[in-house]
Amino acid sequence: MIANYPEVVALRAVVVDASGSELENAIAQCRQAGIIVNGWSDSGAGALELIESLPIAPDLVIMELDLPDMDGADLLQALSMLEPGLAIIITSRHSPRLQDAALTLAATLGLEALAALPKPLHATALRKAAVNCRPAAARAAELLAQGTGAHAQCDSIGPQPDAGAILAGLQARQFELYYQPKTSLRDGALRGAEALIRWRHPGLGLLSPACFLPQAEAANLVDILTVEVLRIALDDWRIWQAAGLSLPLSINLSPLSLADPHLAEQLIQAVNQANVPPRAIIFEIIEHEEISDLATALRILIKLRLHGFGLALDDFGAGHASMLQLSRFPFTELKLDRRLIHGAYQRPHMHSLLRHAIASAHELGVTTVAEGIEMEQDRQLLRELGCEQAQGYLIARPMPAAALPLWHEKSATAGKIAGAGTVIRLRP
Ligand code: C2E
Ligand code: MG
Ligand code: MG
Repeated sequence: MIANYPEVVALRAVVVDASGSELENAIAQCRQAGIIVNGWSDSGAGALELIESLPIAPDLVIMELDLPDMDGADLLQALSMLEPGLAIIITSRHSPRLQDAALTLAATLGLEALAALPKPLHATALRKAAVNCRPAAARAAELLAQGTGAHAQCDSIGPQPDAGAILAGLQARQFELYYQPKTSLRDGALRGAEALIRWRHPGLGLLSPACFLPQAEAANLVDILTVEVLRIALDDWRIWQAAGLSLPLSINLSPLSLADPHLAEQLIQAVNQANVPPRAIIFEIIEHEEISDLATALRILIKLRLHGFGLALDDFGAGHASMLQLSRFPFTELKLDRRLIHGAYQRPHMHSLLRHAIASAHELGVTTVAEGIEMEQDRQLLRELGCEQAQGYLIARPMPAAALPLWHEKSATAGKIAGAGTVIRLRP
């Protein structure tokens, strides 16, 4: 969860730097930025010892990557084990790309990677970076809440549901869809919604897809799951339409579904029978691994396009979702992965990568969507780079079907998005 703390006065930091003068400057800049310095160290081991000895964990560690006893990568690893979720600011004279890689490592280790700042450290930059820092108490409360919140964490629920349980859940209609709005970056208008599967498990609560999709894929159950997802989505679509809200719906397709031409026929038939225009449905495809049967995958995707469905390349820029996929499949939409987007405004080298991806998509006539927008600064950057749509917690978290029209009306009335009560134009 991202919360904004406009005041950084209450934050407490530990500073780690091998150079005496840099350490001195960092401490002075912290004080000027209103950050309390809890302690400092000129070595990695010293910093770890200091943090362990503090009665209250620091909110933030400001660290150099070069230390006499361990490198920054090892210190990040050790910090993640000592204080999960701890906020990190990296300050170093290394290249922005290396510092950015270190930030990515921090995020991968579960730390809160706030920013990489050039040296000499300056209070203004420090203050700006610390605005999004969650205090240690909020961090601890969040960790405690995990597993008991709306979405159960998979690693805290003990035995994972197996194929038999998934089948029983399908029969008992325990699966449901949450929807996350996609809005225009130009005027904020609602442009569509992505359907995200949830399992309302009688014993385990509301489960995220990470808790059961891998098992469903391993047991060859994804096609049954996809058919169920489409059934629910078509029902919801017609309910919204009757209420005056016609909007394109995005449905996720497992890459495994690209091996079975029969599934495409089933999907086309279901949409036709429901009297929903195919242009109102966008199938999102993500590849976990290289497609083995390219001919079948192409046949399915071309067939879906010829029937008028939209096709999105999901998680672009991560894993296998690459320029190669964009070039050979008839996609109509490109979804830029959250890992490219999150904090991009603080990573100048990302700007040119994103600009090129967006420009390439536009030359191919493909709509671009930025996923995982959590910060206003990232939304502003993506707008400036010419990206068309945004999706992410900043706009709205995934919500139950019944909540979407209410969210739309409330947000439009509050002036947060454009077009209250309008019928959304579907892609021609
Ligand atoms: P995805 O298709 O890339 O969906 C976006 C995921 O990012 C969703 O997670 C969504 O809740 C999350 N998300 C959205 N905005 C933000 C944000 O601002 N910050 C962060 N940190 N996360 C954000 P979810 O619902 O857990 O879904 C995870 C993945 O599971 C999906 O990634 C998709 O690949 C898969 N999935 C979801 N529903 C289905 C389904 O019906 N069928 C299939 N085959 N896969 C599905
Ligand atoms: Mg998706
Ligand atoms: Mg995605």
